[in-house]
Amino acid sequence: MTQEELFKKLIAHSKEYGYIFPSSEIYDGLSAVYDYGQYGSELKNNIKRYWWEAMVRLHENIVGIDAAIFMHPRTWEASGHVGAFNDPLIDNKDSKKRYRADVLLEEHIAKLEDKINREIEKGRKKFGDGFDETQFRATNPNVLRNAEKVEEVHTRMVNALTNNDLEALRQLILDCEIVCPVSGTRSWTEVRQFNLMFETKMGSVSEDAGTIYLRPETAQGIFVNFLNVQKTGRMKIPFGIAQIGKAFRNEIVARQFIFRMREFEQMEMQFFIRPGEEMKWYERWKAARMKWHQNLGMGAENYRYHNHDKLAHYANAACDIEFQFPFGFKELEGIHSRTDFDLSNHQKFSGKKIQYFDPETNESYVPYVVETSVGVDRLVLSVLTNAYCEEKVQKDGEEAGERVVLRIPPALAPVKLAVLPLVKKDGLPEKARGILSMLKLDFSCQYDEKDSIGKRYRRQDAIGTPFCVTVDHQTLQDNTVTIRHRDSMEQERVSIEKLSGIMDAQVSLRSLLAKL
Ligand code: ATP
Repeated sequence: MTQEELFKKLIAHSKEYGYIFPSSEIYDGLSAVYDYGQYGSELKNNIKRYWWEAMVRLHENIVGIDAAIFMHPRTWEASGHVGAFNDPLIDNKDSKKRYRADVLLEEHIAKLEDKINREIEKGRKKFGDGFDETQFRATNPNVLRNAEKVEEVHTRMVNALTNNDLEALRQLILDCEIVCPVSGTRSWTEVRQFNLMFETKMGSVSEDAGTIYLRPETAQGIFVNFLNVQKTGRMKIPFGIAQIGKAFRNEIVARQFIFRMREFEQMEMQFFIRPGEEMKWYERWKAARMKWHQNLGMGAENYRYHNHDKLAHYANAACDIEFQFPFGFKELEGIHSRTDFDLSNHQKFSGKKIQYFDPETNESYVPYVVETSVGVDRLVLSVLTNAYCEEKVQKDGEEAGERVVLRIPPALAPVKLAVLPLVKKDGLPEKARGILSMLKLDFSCQYDEKDSIGKRYRRQDAIGTPFCVTVDHQTLQDNTVTIRHRDSMEQERVSIEKLSGIMDAQVSLRSLLAKL
C-alpha cells in the first residue's frame, strides 16, 4: 500500500468509525473544517490531558489559563498580526485555483530532492554492499546538478520571503517552470499578500459595531494576562503560562485533511525568562518537547527538528518538531524564542507598564519569552496515521482473514477496554455488567453482546481499544476472565479482582507521565 492509499483509507476509516466527520456534511461540508465524533473527541481530550498534566501538573512554575477567543482589536495591531500575518498567494488564470507561492516552491524543491533520492537508491542497488553514499553524492553528475538547483531555488526563495519581494517570488515560480497541477499551464497572476485573520463585528447595530478578529493563535491571550497571572499567582521568573484553545486562520490552501484547518486547536506555553537567558531555555524546551512526543512510543525515527529559514517577525530563534506523516515530514510543533517583542509591544500599544521586578537582581525589565506551540489536530493526525494497520490474522497456524487495527498508544485510546459476555445467556451478561460497573469508574469502557466474539473483537480493533475482557462459563465458577491484547491478539486468564490494577498499569496517563 502506498502512503497515499494509506492516507485515503485512514480518512475513510476515521469517518466510518466515528473519529472525524466533515463539518456540516449534510450541506456537503465546509472546506477545511471538521467535526470530531464520539471517538475522535475522546482521543483529542486524552491528548490534551497528556499535554496539560505534563506542562501544568508536573511543573511547579507553570500555571494554566483559559482566555477568551475574542480580544480587543488593538491586541492584533500590537502583536503584528494586522500588519504582517500574511501568506503570499498566486492564482492560476486558467484553472482559477489559488496557491501559496512559497508552498509551490517548496513542493518543487521536494520533487528535486525526490530525484536525488531515487538516483541514490539506483546507486545503492548497483553497487551493493560497497556503496558509499557520501562519495556518490559528491561525484554523481545527476545528483550534483539537482543539489545545485535545490540550493539555488531555496536561497532565492528565502531571500524573496525575507525581503517581502513578491515580484521575485513570482519570477522564481516562472524560472522553475512550475505548472498548475489542475490546468497544467504556467499562466500565473501577480503574487499578492493575503491576511489570514477572520474578521467579524461586535455589537448589535451594524453601523456602530467594531471589527474584531477571531484569534489566529492562543498566545496573545497569555501575553495580555501576564501581569494578572504573575501578580495573583506570585510567580517568580522563570515561569510559564499554558493554555489550550481554538485558533482560526483563513488558510489559502487548506488540504491534507485535519493537517491544515481553518478552525483548529492549539496548546501553547509561554515561558517568561530573564533577557539574555533565552538560548539556554530555548534548547531546554526543544529537548523537553521532543521527549514528550517520543514518549508516546510511536517511533523516535518519525520525529525530527527543522530550523526555520525565515524567522517570524517576533522571533530570534525558531524550530519545528516535524513528524513523518504519509505526505512526508511536516510541522507538528513550533518552538520559538520570541524575545520581548510581544510584551514590549503590548506595553507600547496599551500605555500600561508591563514589567517584572526581579528580587534577585533588583532590576525591573520586560521578560523574554520562549514559546512551545503544538496543534491538537496535527497530534490527532500523527496518532491516527501511525496507528492505522491492515493485517492478516492467523488462527491455529492458518490464515483466518484480515483485520484493521488502530494501534493507538493505550493511554490515549478513546475506549480502554470492552467487556464482552461470550454468549447472551446463562447469566453471563449479568456477570459482565457487574464487571463493567466496577471498571467504568476509572476507565472508559464499552459493553457489547451482539454478534460472534470474533466480530466483536474486530469492532474493538477498528476503534483501537487496547483490551477486551471476555466473560465465559468458567468466570461463573472461579471469578476469572480472559484479557485479549489488541496488538498481539494474545489472551491471558486473570482473576477479576486483579483487572483494575492490570488496566491501571497499562492504560493510565500516569504510566506515560512517569516516563517523562
Ligand atoms: P504552517 O507553517 O504549517 O502553516 P505555522 O508555522 O504557521 O504552520 P504556528 O504559527 O507555529 O504554525 O502554529 C503552531 C502550531 O499550530 C503548528 O505547529 C501546528 O501544529 C498548529 N497549526 C497551525 N496552523 C494550523 C492549521 N491551519 N491547522 C491545524 N493546525 C495548525
